[in-house]
Amino acid sequence: MTPVAGTPHPEWDDLDNGGAEGSTLVDALGRPMRDLRISVTDRCNFRCQYCMPKEIFGANFAFLPRSAVLTFEEITRLARLFAAQGVRKFRLTGGEPTLRAQLPTLVRVLREVPDVEIAMTTNGTMLKTLAAPLREAGLDRVTVSLDSVDDATFRAMNDMDFPVALVLEGIEAAAAAGLPVKVNAVVRRGVNDHTLLDLAGRFRGTPHTVRFIEFMDVGTTNGWKLDEVLPASDLVRMIDGRWPLEPVEPNYTGEVAQRYRYRDGAGEVGVITSVTQPFCGTCTRMRLSAEGSIYTCLFAAGGIDLREAMREGASDAALTSLIAGTWRAREDRYSELRSQATPDLRKVEMSYIGG
Ligand code: SAM
Ligand code: SF4
Ligand code: SF4
Repeated sequence: MTPVAGTPHPEWDDLDNGGAEGSTLVDALGRPMRDLRISVTDRCNFRCQYCMPKEIFGANFAFLPRSAVLTFEEITRLARLFAAQGVRKFRLTGGEPTLRAQLPTLVRVLREVPDVEIAMTTNGTMLKTLAAPLREAGLDRVTVSLDSVDDATFRAMNDMDFPVALVLEGIEAAAAAGLPVKVNAVVRRGVNDHTLLDLAGRFRGTPHTVRFIEFMDVGTTNGWKLDEVLPASDLVRMIDGRWPLEPVEPNYTGEVAQRYRYRDGAGEVGVITSVTQPFCGTCTRMRLSAEGSIYTCLFAAGGIDLREAMREGASDAALTSLIAGTWRAREDRYSELRSQATPDLRKVEMSYIGG
């Protein structure tokens, strides 16, 4: 079915405008704006090869100067405007969000925005100390990126020789602080696919769902090759062969993971099939970079600068109209159009907009 520009896509049967004034804001393909991923820093203490390879993000790499990064006041001001346009979930990301000083303070002020869930995606390295203060400040849930429970594989993938045990302790600290935890693993054929059953097995029987993500051609520096993508369907077959699975209905329209439950009752796993079965049709995500530009797609070549407008004195009404205009014009569906040629297009780096 071809959606009509500017009208809600028929899949959104639950559409309301989330309490926003006027009619629901939808993009050119009828998708509402529901999620805002907020990158709070472009820096990271890992150098995952698929995201920030050392050859590019080395000692001489020019990260953003402090003055270029949005202040908490600026982030919160924008977050309120996004919420007024229908956003119902903020996800803190990075770089590595826990490297941003005083992160619990940001969560505390974002918590004051009504009717919005606050989540965070992290590599888990700082959770031992930060999980409790973040929870106390009002964080609702956390996703920990963990590509392998095999120590040697994990150390090689983060390329900082960081031991897996410390991330596992971080996950325990998050759970102990009362944060629901999901685990995300990027799958690279020939790199960590030999350790995936162990990863699934490690979290079977716990409340922490593991979601396996197909390796994506984000940015231009990670050397992506299609033959390194292990199709999620193969992975599901692999897990099902060991621990029989059955599919679970999505929780809501726009849920990116396909969910499966272990038939023996030991919990769930998920797969995120960005490459083999794209889900652009239900993509409701806006992305705010650490320096205050908005991106309508993970694979966008460029963004719209809100920081400059804010620092030049733009009113809330002017910023709202910039945000709404950007969303209304949105036609992105990169993953659906992916072809032999698209990996070579100019695209923003993942570490810059945070996935
Ligand atoms: N540093 C935090 C972390 O790793 O969770 C947050 C930012 S990171 C860019 C967000 C997510 O993007 C992580 O789960 C990471 O594994 C995923 N990611 C990065 N590069 C990827 C790629 N090329 N393909 C698929 N997922 C990727
Ligand atoms: Fe850092 Fe996350 Fe990128 Fe790994 S995936 S390099 S932890 S930002
Ligand atoms: Fe959304 Fe772009 Fe990913 Fe499609 S390719 S799901 S539009 S971020």
